Amino acid sequence: MSLSPYVVGNWKMNGVRATLAEARAIDRAVARLTGVEVGLAPPFTLIAALREAVTAIGVGGQDCHVAAKGAHTGDVSAAMLADAGADFVIVGHSERRADHGESDALVRAKAEAALAAGLSVIVCVGETEAQRDSGEAEAVVSRQLDASLPSGEAAGEVGEVKLAERLAVAYEPVWAIGTGRVPSVADVEAMHAALRQRLVAAYGEGGSDVRVLYGGSVNPSNAAELLSTPGVGGALVGGASLSAESFMGIVAAAG
Ligand code: PEP
Repeated sequence: MSLSPYVVGNWKMNGVRATLAEARAIDRAVARLTGVEVGLAPPFTLIAALREAVTAIGVGGQDCHVAAKGAHTGDVSAAMLADAGADFVIVGHSERRADHGESDALVRAKAEAALAAGLSVIVCVGETEAQRDSGEAEAVVSRQLDASLPSGEAAGEVGEVKLAERLAVAYEPVWAIGTGRVPSVADVEAMHAALRQRLVAAYGEGGSDVRVLYGGSVNPSNAAELLSTPGVGGALVGGASLSAESFMGIVAAAG
């Protein structure tokens, strides 16, 4: 059973209470659509308020700690995100990997902690420009995914909830994030096919339904082409998710 396309906005370290007006506009527009699943990941400070403000879209965190609680100043646990009303969390974003030295093993542990707390999880992977230029992109990203995915035991079905409803992957070339540059459709298709193979190797048949999102400079003009590329199950959107108008241009292309 294949799920609807999944379009997720990552607000990064942007957004104050006034920005929730954009989220409300997105929520109202999504409520009139069918056949697409939408989520927004605001900064931690807005999660509870966003939960109160929306009904048709999912609410997510941009990171979580591996522990449920404890002496970790400045961190937020997956259980706390769930308590604040989050449905999902993004882990392993390249900005976390670069700014905070997060390893694949840590990303895996965070994904497992998120699933244990009842959140669904989006695991991000992607190559640098140097890795793309040296022809290593598929090998590097495949290895990254193998080492970042939650174990089959952690990611298994819970009751009626299937693996693909608890886990998504986002392929985000580091060099495409926030730059206005995107890979060719052929490169996106090839990478998504490689990642699908890794998901099936990791989880068997269940891995074939897990959505693999594309992320990196998606905007209303390029969304239709990217989202209709074989193997692309949705989009992870940074800058263009801060305005309802541009984000809905992307969501409309997915539906
Ligand atoms: C991101 O950082 O997840 C992202 C895709 O950013 P942008 O859309 O701004 O390139």
